[in-house]
Amino acid sequence: MSATRVVTFHYTLRDPAGRILDTSAGGEPITYLEGAGQIIDGLDSRLRRAEAGAKQRVQVPAAEAYGEHDAAQVQQVKRAVLPIDGELALGAQFQAGPDRNAPVVTVVAIDGEQVTLDANHPLAGVDLEFEVEIVTVRGATPEELSHGHAHGNDGTGHCQ
Ligand code: ZN
Repeated sequence: MSATRVVTFHYTLRDPAGRILDTSAGGEPITYLEGAGQIIDGLDSRLRRAEAGAKQRVQVPAAEAYGEHDAAQVQQVKRAVLPIDGELALGAQFQAGPDRNAPVVTVVAIDGEQVTLDANHPLAGVDLEFEVEIVTVRGATPEELSHGHAHGNDGTGHCQ
């Protein structure tokens, strides 16, 4: 069994149509502790043998990324109960309740007073392709292992 690593990488994320969904290019790279849930499991598990300097494309099926689309999370509500003033647009997103942990829902259909909301993650059901460039790889420090997260690229970063 090999020691748990801390990996820093740049990425560009694309959907199956090749559309760029997110990228770290031009910004700070991502640093994570392996197996700690800091990045999606399907990417974490596929980078276990990646070394510094490696560039690779990593395909992560939806089930190992943001999950399959769950039809039970789609529901119709009356427009009047929504916490939205003014115009309601397809694709609009808002929190489903006053609680700050309330799920974010997306408006997927509007039919008169009936509005269909989808509480799935926007990337649920989407197979992802990551173009990854590994910047650095190092062993995790005992402190990182006990905290369950990485402390920055060099292990000295502050954590909350
Ligand atoms: Zn910490």
